[in-house]
Amino acid sequence: MDRILASDIGGTTCKMGVFTPELELLHKWEIPTDTSDGGSRILENIHQSFQSEGGKFGYSREDVIGTGLGVPGPVDFNNGILNGAINLNWTHRKPIAAEFEALSGIRAIVDNDANVAALGEQFKGAGMGHKDVVMVTLGTGVGGGVVSNSLLIHGHGGAAGEIGHLLVDYEQRFQCNCGKKGCLETVASATGMKNLALHYYGDGKDTLLSQEIENGTVSAKMIVEAAQDGDVLGLRVVDEVARYIAIALSHISAVTNPKYFIIGGGVSRAGRILTDRIEHHYRPITFPPAYENTEIVMAELGNDAGIYGAARLVRQYLA
Ligand SMILES: [Zn+2]
Repeated sequence: MDRILASDIGGTTCKMGVFTPELELLHKWEIPTDTSDGGSRILENIHQSFQSEGGKFGYSREDVIGTGLGVPGPVDFNNGILNGAINLNWTHRKPIAAEFEALSGIRAIVDNDANVAALGEQFKGAGMGHKDVVMVTLGTGVGGGVVSNSLLIHGHGGAAGEIGHLLVDYEQRFQCNCGKKGCLETVASATGMKNLALHYYGDGKDTLLSQEIENGTVSAKMIVEAAQDGDVLGLRVVDEVARYIAIALSHISAVTNPKYFIIGGGVSRAGRILTDRIEHHYRPITFPPAYENTEIVMAELGNDAGIYGAARLVRQYLA
């Protein structure tokens, strides 16, 4: 029986899945990510786990069509080379596909985790039935993936879809991890929400969050909850986050004209209070033919999006 294997490698856990060639998920599980010793055992642990746990689901090595891997860092897609992943203590360029193939004897394909999540949501989640979708993942940072005509866009150097680094804060108030200022990530991630809360707090102390802001413990979750309670500062921050996301979506719309913008990640748990404001800001600033019939929706697959997308890559490129 032919099988496709998939793993979405994160800083804490690796999500694992065994799929049929038709991309039905037969079994999923997680293993801890061992980042010690420069992350030197991560790929070996994944391979071992596929053999022991995945093996229960009826495949031998000869039956495996390929393994799809999602990794938390920039990837040279054509060569399967990861350009470092800080969360995994992989500090150098690493030929992931070649290393995994050498370990397992199974062909492997590798992509960035935000990309595989976008592909998963496109074919199996919130984007199902449509070939053109863009996913924006609002977490500790802001990730993105662009699916056009059912294929992920990688670009010349693999940096396509890095939506978190679109310049949207033209005042460039906050420093980004990429070395630049004003990126979407500095105003729309969990960190970005804190940046804005601290910044606007200076305009007036009328907020339920005074204590947390003063003592430095304020979190994105607290800001969202304050907004849901009608807090002035909380509402202002959520509205600004939404406005910056809307600017990014407006630009993306004029480039790839997606059917769906799929919003995922921890910050997206804010739900309608956020997406309603994104809608409110998005349409007035976007080229009308580029937003006609475009919808802003929430992600549906949660933590499974990555393994679905990684399996889909195997189907698209190795089958
Ligand atoms: Zn940046």
